[in-house]
Amino acid sequence: MKLPLIQLYILASCLSCNAVSVPLIKLSGAAQGTTYHVSYFSPGSADYQKEIDSLLRALDTSLSTYNPFSVISKFNQNDDIVKADEHFTSVFDRAIAVAEMTDGQFDITVAPIVNAWGFGFAEKEKINSAKIDSLLKYVGFRKIALNKGRLVKEHPLIMLDFNAIAQGYSVDRIAEFLESKNISNYLVELGGEVKAKGQKPGKEMWKIGIERPGEVPETDDPYQAVLPLYNRAMATSGNYRRFYEENGRKYGHIIDPRTGYPAKHSLLSATVFADDCMTADAYATAFMVMGMEKAIQFLALHKTLNLEVFFIFDDNGKWKTYYSRGLEQSLKKVN
Ligand code: AMP
Ligand code: MG
Repeated sequence: MKLPLIQLYILASCLSCNAVSVPLIKLSGAAQGTTYHVSYFSPGSADYQKEIDSLLRALDTSLSTYNPFSVISKFNQNDDIVKADEHFTSVFDRAIAVAEMTDGQFDITVAPIVNAWGFGFAEKEKINSAKIDSLLKYVGFRKIALNKGRLVKEHPLIMLDFNAIAQGYSVDRIAEFLESKNISNYLVELGGEVKAKGQKPGKEMWKIGIERPGEVPETDDPYQAVLPLYNRAMATSGNYRRFYEENGRKYGHIIDPRTGYPAKHSLLSATVFADDCMTADAYATAFMVMGMEKAIQFLALHKTLNLEVFFIFDDNGKWKTYYSRGLEQSLKKVN
């Protein structure tokens, strides 16, 4: 899970709340190694903190590699009793679909390599090309399958990592929970991944900020852009969030599963907008692996995915931005 470095994205202030007497409920807490913020308008002022916390605990018990007793951890330990539950199956199926679409640039079997580089749930290892080659044998989404709730692996050393997709999925589940309570105006954020539905009373849109990819002086605006989010989800990936430096080199936590090395491009952060947050989360990671040019080509070829992107990239030491056409209008509204 991501470190709790993520800035609060929710810029939504409540300018128009006084005009209409529907109370804004704001909940927050810690989960999945980061924080969450949920805002919603509820005529009955219902407080769902307990339910959301218990939902987040249930998600952890299924999807967290940091919980040694979770479903995913048990599969990683080759426990032969554990069976996939509903959460595991949903995330697994979408992860495989995105792996197929991206030809393995997004791949949940990258776990042994993520661990070796020191970004996973096991101790960092001494890394060299021989080590990477030996671990690449255990990477590849075509080497696994879910069969009647059992994970079938080509080799017992194959392990899974859901960290590039589980937060997005969790946002979707919280949103779904709110909708089950007839709440149709909400903003859910977990670790920087967001989903918004409806708007605030008085027709003011929920707004979100895209953070700048690195150290920003305190005096400066931490957001590269601010835009309204209407019935959409958004997720950001960036190597500026988790990395370390060794011998003057920077190593980021997003790994190219085909080479075993951290993805390294001019792309500093990839923000993806999609109908659901799980998809946005998975593609944000995939685009960091592809790099900007390949990601733009991918988007042109897969318009039916209905994704929009906002990329921040390094152009000879300067931060520049690229955004897809569909964002133009929204960006104009607020920037
Ligand atoms: P995110 O912050 O959503 O981009 O997720 C990054 C995390 O996903 C990393 O810390 C790893 O645990 C895992 N990961 C790294 N590279 C990949 C990849 N190519 N495909 C899937 N998961 C990855
Ligand atoms: Mg992701």
